[in-house]
Amino acid sequence: MANDFSGFLPAIPMIRIGDDGKAFIMGSHCRNCGETVPGERMACASCGKRETIEPVRLGTKGTLYNYTIVHRSYPGVKVPFVSAIVDLEGGGSLRGTLAEVEPDPAQLPWNMPVNVVFRDSGQTNPEGKPFVSYLFVPAQGEA
Ligand SMILES: [Zn+2]
Repeated sequence: MANDFSGFLPAIPMIRIGDDGKAFIMGSHCRNCGETVPGERMACASCGKRETIEPVRLGTKGTLYNYTIVHRSYPGVKVPFVSAIVDLEGGGSLRGTLAEVEPDPAQLPWNMPVNVVFRDSGQTNPEGKPFVSYLFVPAQGEA
């Protein structure tokens, strides 16, 4: 498995690359009310407290909460694809593309187990550095 993303740039700020080269998604957890959300927050969106927010590494397993099958997108983006919302184990809900599945409602049961995987996005910055992005893929045989 090519899971070493040393030298990559995060495609979006909430993707982080650890010293070990492993990519992960940074989230914010509220010690007061227990809410966990992706990305960095100054205050808790749930209870409004500021001093109880701490950074957390979000989980890489989750379940399909909802999705849309996208048939029209930007030039160069292959359609149709599945834009999903996934509830992560350990807290947090994340939006992203669900890949490696037919974009067909019959293949997309509610609560389907999925994994968060990190991939080379295929794009580079002007200096030629590659970007790492994330996708959801079905967690077949692992549930
Ligand atoms: Zn809170």
